Amino acid sequence: MLSEDQRQGLKAEATSWCYPKTRGKASKLRPPLGAARRPADFACAVASRYGRDMRETRALLNRALAGMGTTIFAEMSALAVETGSVNLGQGFPDIDGPAEIAQAAADAVLAGRGNQYPPGPGIPELRQAIAAHQKRFYGIEVDPDAEVLVTAGATEAVAAAMLALLEPGDEVIAFEPYYDSYAACIAMAGATRVPVTLRAPAFRPDLDALRDAVTDRTRLILLNSPHNPTGMVLTQAELQAIATLAIERDLLVVTDEVYEHIVFDGEHIPIVTLPGMRERTVSISSAGKTFSFTGWKIGWATGSPELIAAVKTAKQFLTFVNGGPFQYAIATGLALPDSFYAELAARLQRRRDLLAAGLQEAGLDVFIPAGTYFITTDIRPLGESDGLAFCRSLPARCGVVAVPNVVFYDNQDAGRSQVRFAFCKRDEVLADAAGRLRQLRS
Ligand code: PMP
Ligand code: GLN
Repeated sequence: MLSEDQRQGLKAEATSWCYPKTRGKASKLRPPLGAARRPADFACAVASRYGRDMRETRALLNRALAGMGTTIFAEMSALAVETGSVNLGQGFPDIDGPAEIAQAAADAVLAGRGNQYPPGPGIPELRQAIAAHQKRFYGIEVDPDAEVLVTAGATEAVAAAMLALLEPGDEVIAFEPYYDSYAACIAMAGATRVPVTLRAPAFRPDLDALRDAVTDRTRLILLNSPHNPTGMVLTQAELQAIATLAIERDLLVVTDEVYEHIVFDGEHIPIVTLPGMRERTVSISSAGKTFSFTGWKIGWATGSPELIAAVKTAKQFLTFVNGGPFQYAIATGLALPDSFYAELAARLQRRRDLLAAGLQEAGLDVFIPAGTYFITTDIRPLGESDGLAFCRSLPARCGVVAVPNVVFYDNQDAGRSQVRFAFCKRDEVLADAAGRLRQLRS
C-alpha cells in the first residue's frame, strides 16, 4: 500500500507527466496505460505494475532530449498568430515560390507521378537534377545513382547523417550558435556536442579553438555555411583550415548548406570542393529556402557512395521516402536558369538592407549578414540584456516577433543579448515591422 504522502507525490508527478502545461492549457497527451484516465490512477497503475514507487521509474521523454521542449520557431510563430504580430521569427518566405514549380507539383499529382512511394533514394529525375546543379554551380561531378540521397528536408538529412555516422561516446564539433536540430540529432545518436563559439560582431570561426576542441573521441565536424542565425559565410581560407584539420585528424565533415544560393557578400564554397574532402564530406541542402517552398520538405545529401550508403541506411528507417510529386516539381526548379538564382539573392539582399536600416533606426546593434534569411542584432543599446525576455515581450510592446539567439548556444552568456530577425518577407511587411520597432525608442 502507498502512504497518503506517496500517493500525493505520485499524483503531482503523474500530473506533470501526463498534462504538461502548454500556455496554460492541458496538452492532449494521454497516460500511456490504457485504462487509467486520471493522473492519480495512472500513477498508481504504474506503481503497482512495477511493484515500486513510481518516482523511481524513468521520465517518459528520453533523457537525451530532456529540456528540448517545443522549438523556438514553433513557440514564436504561435505567439505571432496569437498576438497578430508581424512574424520575423521563423524563417519562411511570405510569398510562395515560382508558379511554374507549383504547377509542376500539381501536374505530377494529377498525372499520378509520385503519388505512390517513390524510390528510396529519390526519383531519378530529381537525383539527376541535383547532380546537374552540383556540376553547374560548383563543378562537382556527382553520380546520381550512388552519390545522391533525397530526404525529407535538410532536417532529415542531418538526422540521418548523425544517426548513421555517430555512436555513443563520439564527439561532434559544431560552431555555436547552432541550428536547433543539430543538438537534438547529436543527442539522439548518443553522441556529445562540443561547441566552438562564434563571437560578435563578425562571428568568424576561431580556428585555434576549433583545433583545440578536437580530441581522440571527435568523429565529425558539423558545419553550416551560410550560417543560421549569424549570416556568416565561411571563406576559402577558413574552409581550407577546417579541411586541413579534418584530414590531419581523420574526421568526417557534415555540412549544412541550405542557404547556398542566399549569399550577398563573398561567395558560397562547398567544403567538398577542397582537396582531400571528397571522401569525408556529406553535403546537405534543401529546396525549401532556394525555391520558397519550405513546407514541401524536399532536401538532399550528396557524398561518396560509402557515405551516402551509410546515411541512406538510417534515412530509410526515418521516413523511408517523402513528397513524391514535390520531387518532380523540385527537379523542374533546379533546372531554372542562373538568372533565377541571381534574382533570389538580389531580392533578399534588398530586403536585408531594408530591415537592417529599420533595426538600426529602432536602436539595435545590427550585425549585417553576408548570407541567409536572418539578421542578428544585439539589444543592449536599448538598455536590455535578456534576449529571451525581450522576444517574449516584443509582441505586446510593438507587435513584432523575433527569435532569441540564446537558444542556439550552449555557452548562453555568449548569446544572451542577441536577437534574430528574418527578412524573407515582402517589402511592405518589412516596412511595417520597421515602423512598429521604432516604438522601442520611445
Ligand atoms: N538547416 C538550417 C541551417 C536551417 O536554417 C534549416 C531551416 N530551413 C534547416 C536546416 C532545415 O531545412 P528543411 O526545412 O529543408 O528541413
Ligand atoms: N530554418 C527555419 C529558421 O531558422 C525554421 C525551421 C523550423 O521551424 N524548424 O527559422
